[in-house]
Amino acid sequence: MIGIIVFLFGLAMGSFIGAWTYRLPRRIKISKGRSFCPKCKYQIAWYDNIPLVSYIVLAGKCRNCHKKIGFREPLIEIVTAFVFVTIFHFVNGCMFFSEGTVLQSDIVCSFVGKIGWWTLPYLLTIFFFIIATFVIDLEKKIIPDEFSFALLFLAIIGVMFANYNDLFLRLFFALLPALFLLFLHFITRGRGMGLGDVKLVLFAPILLGTWQNNLIWMMGSFIIGAIVGVIFMIFGKASFGKQIPFGPFLIISFFITLLFSDIIGKFLII
Ligand SMILES: [Zn+2]
Repeated sequence: MIGIIVFLFGLAMGSFIGAWTYRLPRRIKISKGRSFCPKCKYQIAWYDNIPLVSYIVLAGKCRNCHKKIGFREPLIEIVTAFVFVTIFHFVNGCMFFSEGTVLQSDIVCSFVGKIGWWTLPYLLTIFFFIIATFVIDLEKKIIPDEFSFALLFLAIIGVMFANYNDLFLRLFFALLPALFLLFLHFITRGRGMGLGDVKLVLFAPILLGTWQNNLIWMMGSFIIGAIVGVIFMIFGKASFGKQIPFGPFLIISFFITLLFSDIIGKFLII
């Protein structure tokens, strides 16, 4: 039951992220008016703006001009809902600990052990900004500083609120990937790695906690990036020198590390 509520909440937040990440790089205020059709600028009525449902009812077409509206909005909504429900199940798995439950994670359970159910709204807030960052970096190849610093702020506040006694070690861990990416930024003269990525990586180590988790996260980012890069090259979508944003890889790897670092760690024996 709560899972369904979290799913619907995820759809709604995904809808907001979709509108926000569309408007922010185009300097349109989020408060300014309702959504409109990108083709004919027809303002979309509220009953045609229900996440996912409207898209299915209207078969992906604008009610006014009947042109196909892209899959962008419903995709962001579904992914956000999926991520939110997954986090819910992991928090739930830690709350009602039982042997053999698959959906458990050391990192999530560590937070649950300290702040209980607060872990859920906390991680959902974090992932709200993470998904927005993912979308904007993928589409526009920029990571707004507001997003990186909101995540950094949330990470520090969360760790302080949860009363972890190793905050300074975590802050130190945050500097390592940032310095590493800064180094890559300079040796590739800014083409291989943007400064946006350098600022984005600061939040994650504070949440991941241990050097093992951070190693898994960083290695994972580069491995996923390499795999995607090779796939893109095979299909001729990218070549060396053509920039693929790195933020989405950092984010996918963060999601995987947060939920599965203990399993991966056992596998790698670290
Ligand atoms: Zn239209």
